[in-house]
Amino acid sequence: MRVLKKFALALLALVLGLVAMVAVNTWRHGSRQLEVPPAERIALDEAGLARRLAGSLRFKTISTHDNADASADQFDGLHAYLRQSYPKVFGTLKLEQVGRSLLLTWPGTDATAPPVAWMAHQDVVPIAPGTEGNWAAPPFDGVVRDGFVWGRGSWDDKGNLIAQLEAVEQLLGQGFQPRRTLYLVFGHDEEVGGIHGAKAIAELLQSRNVRLDYVLDEGLLITDGVMPGLKAPAALIGIAEKGYLSVGLSVTASPGHSSMPPARGGSAIAMMSAALQRLENDQMPAAIRGVAREMFETIAPEMSGFQRVALSNLWLFGPVVQKQLERGASTNAMMRTTTALTIVNAGSKDNVLPGRADATVNFRLLPGDTREGLMAHVNSHTHAVDERFELTQLPGSSEPSPISPTAAPAYQRLNRTVREVFPGTLVAPGLMIGATDSRHFQAISDHIYRFSPVRATPEDLPRFHGTNERIAIANLADMVRFYRRLLSADLTP
Ligand SMILES: [Zn+2]
Repeated sequence: MRVLKKFALALLALVLGLVAMVAVNTWRHGSRQLEVPPAERIALDEAGLARRLAGSLRFKTISTHDNADASADQFDGLHAYLRQSYPKVFGTLKLEQVGRSLLLTWPGTDATAPPVAWMAHQDVVPIAPGTEGNWAAPPFDGVVRDGFVWGRGSWDDKGNLIAQLEAVEQLLGQGFQPRRTLYLVFGHDEEVGGIHGAKAIAELLQSRNVRLDYVLDEGLLITDGVMPGLKAPAALIGIAEKGYLSVGLSVTASPGHSSMPPARGGSAIAMMSAALQRLENDQMPAAIRGVAREMFETIAPEMSGFQRVALSNLWLFGPVVQKQLERGASTNAMMRTTTALTIVNAGSKDNVLPGRADATVNFRLLPGDTREGLMAHVNSHTHAVDERFELTQLPGSSEPSPISPTAAPAYQRLNRTVREVFPGTLVAPGLMIGATDSRHFQAISDHIYRFSPVRATPEDLPRFHGTNERIAIANLADMVRFYRRLLSADLTP
């Protein structure tokens, strides 16, 4: 009895100790948010702004893999439209055209200060066939209605492009000149890899020995109601970008008649199925580390309830939290290199055993993983099934980006500008799951940030590359204020 009592007491002490530690830790993790007064809200001609964005949406600047010139006249039309809409920008800044991409240079007053680049792409993705009728307004009509500008590109990415041009046009109107040289980089093939646009412009700047203090490109958003336990809207600034790798798998077997199949597991389809099953079951490991950890540690103090306690005490709740996060597709993608089975091809007749099966597996690499390591991972899993598997690394792959520091002045300036222009919005670093044009600038800048000052609720997310893409006019005006503020802040560093 006495032993039991002693044990119970020890257990109680342990539990109380843990509770105390958790409480202290939760309390110790105070807010990391910058305390800054809101910026004065500049009055803008919102109707004109909406009209100018709407006009840009009427050019069907769809980029395609196979034919770079397919929409050439649409890009030329857009260029003429921009020149006409922003006479001060095009009359003052130096314009260079690379392919159908544009590079605008606004020389700063301080030639020794490192220049910066803002990016936005001109091209858009096509409308999924058969969904045109689901749009509330035709996707390329540029309709302004109910406080929104509707159409393909309104959000991705002509909203950013127009907001940047508006900001520069307005500042030029006030006789403003930036302290540092500003490059505007408007790619024309971002949605298909950015090789002829952003990549070529980065190489051009590199050939001129340009080193950029920072690069700001489209990216993560200001989300509202997306994270459980978080009431305030959160602006995530992408400090890194996942890598991309598609691997082609093929395996050969003896073709034959289906009336006499080989022993179990010996057909090309069976071997391919087994290999794919292994890759699906044995996913790359997940962990709350790197960018994801920094994000959660920044956001935790702003949360309420159990989420705050759990995220402030990852030393204890890490495994529970991780299990929870692995269940959500977007949070899972932040914690691991993902494996997606995307294409399978084999067989052409119901009574013939195919001599070959092919498949494609797409990986999105977490910073820290490499393409070489992934190829070895695939190789070990296919060879465990059969030695005849052949692997190919498909074109268009890229390593994950380096991680840009949050301690850099450029990040802190972005952080501050968000807090000033979007009062009450939390700012945290995040991981960009998709690819952006900014990755082509890695050779000429160590500070690449991916952020669009666009507000989105969970209901809005399917509009991205989807049906009924739109942007609120009030949001568009705030985007202009954001870019204006960011530029003006350069005078008071
Ligand atoms: Zn985009």
